[in-house]
Amino acid sequence: MRIAVFSDIHANLEAFEVFASDAARRRIDKYVCLGDLVGYGANPNACIEGVRALPQVEVLLGNHDAAATWITSPYEMNTKAREAIMWTMDRLTDANRAFLENLPPLYREGNHVWAHASPFNPKAWTYVQDHASARLCLWRTRADLTFVAHTHRPLVIRPTRMLRLAFETPEHEEVVTLTPGNRLVCNCGSVGQSRDGLPAGSYLVLDTDAARIEFIRFGYDVEKAAQKIHSAGLPAFFAQRLLKGQ
Ligand code: ZN
Repeated sequence: MRIAVFSDIHANLEAFEVFASDAARRRIDKYVCLGDLVGYGANPNACIEGVRALPQVEVLLGNHDAAATWITSPYEMNTKAREAIMWTMDRLTDANRAFLENLPPLYREGNHVWAHASPFNPKAWTYVQDHASARLCLWRTRADLTFVAHTHRPLVIRPTRMLRLAFETPEHEEVVTLTPGNRLVCNCGSVGQSRDGLPAGSYLVLDTDAARIEFIRFGYDVEKAAQKIHSAGLPAFFAQRLLKGQ
């Protein structure tokens, strides 16, 4: 089975549409979305509807989805993020709000687990990006493969000898081969708001039959998405950030 794992669309329809057509060309059997469908960008409803329309899709709750539906308080976010969430709240359709409200924070199948942030207490929204958080994550899940997002940067974390961990940044079309018993934490990056300096989306494809994970980057019309943020009256910071991939 070929599973596309993607996350952090952040209401960026230009990025989502390119992701959806890029993934469709790669013979995907199933999709797993790790959350943050909304926040920052100008097209929250269209992005939610696009994700819901994917064939065979599991969708998880992200911290921005939780804030946009008052599962958590948006007042815990920084001022600009909160402003975008308030803007989003005013525009979500009833059906899309209900969809976000009912998203689970964790998905598990066999020896694989998926969460927006650390599966160790997923609603604490902890980034898995250093030794301490990665160890907690690996210890908590006991899964061979753990998929996370939330940092907006693609990453592979693998245990090496003597309880050490290696952190690797995958390139476009880089393939990670899976061997039985080897445990990995993979971050699929972000479809709509990359933060690794490249203004391009990212996701990954897990191929369970071929025992491999492929990391994908794709370009999209960043200028158009940024212009929409300006036109919508959302904080200009989010448009500038998109253009720089920060
Ligand atoms: Zn996010």
